[in-house]
Amino acid sequence: MLKTISGFDRIGEENAFAVLARATALAAQGRDIINLGIGQPDFRTPDHIVEAAIKALRDGHHGYTPATGILPLREAVAADVEKRTGFAPDPDNVLIVPGGKVTMFMAILMFGEPGAEILYPDPGFPIYRSMIEFTGATPVPIPIREENDFAFSAEETLSLINERTRLIIVNSPANPCGGVTPRAEVEKLVAGLEKHPDVAIMSDEIYAQMTYDGMEHVSLMSFESIRDRLILLDGWSKTYAMTGWRMGYSVWPTELMNKARKLAVNAWSCVNAPAQYAGLAALTGPQDAVHEMVAEFDRRRKVVVDGLNALPGVSCRTPLGAFYAFPNIKATGWKAKPLASALLEDAGVATIGGPDFGILGEGYIRLSYANSTENIRRALERMGDFLSANA
Ligand code: PLP
Repeated sequence: MLKTISGFDRIGEENAFAVLARATALAAQGRDIINLGIGQPDFRTPDHIVEAAIKALRDGHHGYTPATGILPLREAVAADVEKRTGFAPDPDNVLIVPGGKVTMFMAILMFGEPGAEILYPDPGFPIYRSMIEFTGATPVPIPIREENDFAFSAEETLSLINERTRLIIVNSPANPCGGVTPRAEVEKLVAGLEKHPDVAIMSDEIYAQMTYDGMEHVSLMSFESIRDRLILLDGWSKTYAMTGWRMGYSVWPTELMNKARKLAVNAWSCVNAPAQYAGLAALTGPQDAVHEMVAEFDRRRKVVVDGLNALPGVSCRTPLGAFYAFPNIKATGWKAKPLASALLEDAGVATIGGPDFGILGEGYIRLSYANSTENIRRALERMGDFLSANA
């Protein structure tokens, strides 16, 4: 028997990939499956970005790059961060990583060990908790509540900090609930964090450009007082419909940057070179496709929310960001995971049960509205028929 480290007894997964595999298998059997499970834009990567990758290969950019990423890309990231947050990071503090997820992997590895506590949102992206458990650190859930429109509560978050707290993970706009934390709450959180200078913060802002109804995204990068211990997580996957390219970036405080670079050198040497040129074209080229995609998500959001609220036993707050709805299904009489599973097997609609995102996820399911309006309408109709027949 091979003896691997004990972290593997605790590491989790992302159930969205298991649901995707099941949905794909059912579709291969000839079933008509509507996938509202996986969180990825249903748009194609814009042509000019694809062309930039092809050109990079033709120009001979097929070798290793610096471990942190090519300089023009890191400069473009710095300029983009400045445009959106008012602060221009030094390109030397920017790390290009193979997908946004890698930043959380690195940050949690950097701070997690037995005895340490790491705060993370619940419901939240499942990998936060999984990786915290892997390191042996204690995961401390920050409750994300429906009655608070799924925004962070500064007071509740700050109340969880103690002398063992090493890292706090925040995420706005958020997966899976679509909540966006308003400016006043972010300011309160930052003011509280100023009193805990030894606690690092990772701000997952991968959905930064997807807010609706005039809601502003407030980046933690815009607050000077915490910047020296802030790790910014962002990337191309959602904004530019590039999930499969595996392109993300992080901005690290100077104190941590060399550690992050060493992890990168140890793990992947550098990110796929042509993909980096594609990422450069994405940031420096026209942004019309991004705006059109977000406008389309906004239209679908209304269809999803209205449709969900018309279903028996279902109520849904209007999400203000990302591309997820997180309806409350408590009055249907179903538990969330059995409902998600029955919707897939019997009604051909893939969703994700709320408990896959944390303890507070019971009573909710997640729907991604990164699918056509027609499919969303068909899915809602099927869900309505299913719930009427199986109350
Ligand atoms: N952070 C959040 C909140 C996400 O929802 C996701 C993807 O679903 C990621 C990070 C990871 O994105 P990537 O595909 O770039 O690794």
